[in-house]
Amino acid sequence: MAILEEPIKEPLHLKNYIDGEWVESEGERKDVVNPATGKVIATVPISTEDEINEAVEAAKEAFPEWRRTPPLARARCLFRLKQLLEEHFEEVSRIQTMEHGKTIDESRGETRRGIEMVEVATGIPSLMMGYNLEDIATGIDEYVIRQPLGVFGIIGPFNFPFMVPLWFAPFAVATGNTIVLKPSSEDPISQVKIAELAEEAGIPPGVWNIVHGGRTVVSGMLDHPDIEGICFVGSTPVGRDVIYRRCGETGKRVIAMCGAKNFALVMPDADLDRTIAACMTSFFGNAGQRCLANANLVIVGEGLSEQEHEEFYQEVVERFVASASRIRMGYGLDDTVHMGPLRDKKKRDRVVGYIEKGLEEGATLLLDGRQFELVNDIPDTCFVGPTVFENVTLDMTIAREEIFGPVASVMKARSLKEAIEMIHQIPYGNAASIFTNSGKWAREFQYNVQCGNIGINVGIAAPMAFFPFGGMKDSFFGVLHGQGREAIRFFTESKVVIQRWF
Ligand code: NAD
Repeated sequence: MAILEEPIKEPLHLKNYIDGEWVESEGERKDVVNPATGKVIATVPISTEDEINEAVEAAKEAFPEWRRTPPLARARCLFRLKQLLEEHFEEVSRIQTMEHGKTIDESRGETRRGIEMVEVATGIPSLMMGYNLEDIATGIDEYVIRQPLGVFGIIGPFNFPFMVPLWFAPFAVATGNTIVLKPSSEDPISQVKIAELAEEAGIPPGVWNIVHGGRTVVSGMLDHPDIEGICFVGSTPVGRDVIYRRCGETGKRVIAMCGAKNFALVMPDADLDRTIAACMTSFFGNAGQRCLANANLVIVGEGLSEQEHEEFYQEVVERFVASASRIRMGYGLDDTVHMGPLRDKKKRDRVVGYIEKGLEEGATLLLDGRQFELVNDIPDTCFVGPTVFENVTLDMTIAREEIFGPVASVMKARSLKEAIEMIHQIPYGNAASIFTNSGKWAREFQYNVQCGNIGINVGIAAPMAFFPFGGMKDSFFGVLHGQGREAIRFFTESKVVIQRWF
């Protein structure tokens, strides 16, 4: 059980990156603590309003020159960034494990997904093309061009500190915009590393800025007249009531990707070995701190008698609990570990509070994550083990609210129709999975379920970088989604030119 070498040996003193310079903030400083070891690994500034204004000013000044830079030249910077990220792949992955707690394999997966965003954005000369038509009337031609808008603000969540800001930043910059990025102050280190590599890749000063902090920075971005649009990923109350509302008031474009409560349906014909394996990573991967994690498991008795449904239910639940209880917990830098801690003690206490709430409301606890063993000699302050409840009903808090921890609620539905209705009783609509061998059931599910991301025999329905990513209902606020072609549209304005020559 060797623990891999930690890339951060001494606490880092993080700075803002504004106009190509690493600058000290006047704001207070906050500790960034490795949740597995309890050690401080960095201090991060909570920047002031003046500092966010300086960054926006720098981004605004850099915009005209960057916009004039040919798309191919912009893409070459991103090719270099991609190359540098590959060279630092293991280092940035280990940093994520240290700042967030996830296992090294989960971090490597996150790094790969982040790099893919940069790869797709290098296709910008083709992706950004407009279209035209000759002779819309005799001798008159018309065409559409796509143009960048200016400065975009990017606000990241804590759960994917490396990847999520890359859902936006490479596309924004490739299209000729400039950015001011605020990483989550809980785990901001990997974004600092990316900005260092962006600088090395030749992205000019002022194009890619980082301002650390919290609400002051966010409200500074929302209110700033020179920010054209905001990309936010985080919880629904902040996304809907702060970000989306204020962007409406100030006339900014917005992508607000928010909270989730996702369902997985197991149909009687599902391949159970594969289903249980997929469920383990979906429910418990990243310690349940994924917007695409499944949280409610519905065992569906479509076509079965009540007795057969009960037997099928018992079989699935037994296998689910048995697999969950084999999950190895410890420090994510030990590569035999399957699950790391939650991001911090407050999050651990919050998840434990939900377990207590589930018991109070009458659910039955089959596997209690408050009791666990760690495979490494580390403090147990931020850990919660895999937790499984049954006899959960949809009026219970644990079935309705986003717990964002490794807690599964198991339910039954007599039919697929009833299971889909259950999904629709929850205000969120981020993702849903079905496990079945029936194309008919899968199609019915895909056709009817109001969620932005559908998994068919897939537990984590995460779109690749060249497909759009967004939810429905309370999981998404905005029109265009992140990633792929929708991101290109979000970060550009279309202009129509109609021309005739005499
Ligand atoms: P959060 O809402 O607490 O914070 C997100 C960002 O907003 C952070 O940068 C934070 O500093 C800032 N912020 C927090 N409170 C604020 C306030 N009152 N005013 C202004 N800014 C504020 O979310 P989190 O805990 O960092 O992330 C977890 C959440 O993100 C979960 O709800 C999860 O489902 C969601 N998430 C969604 C997706 C998706 O694709 N839909 C992806 C990842 C995470």
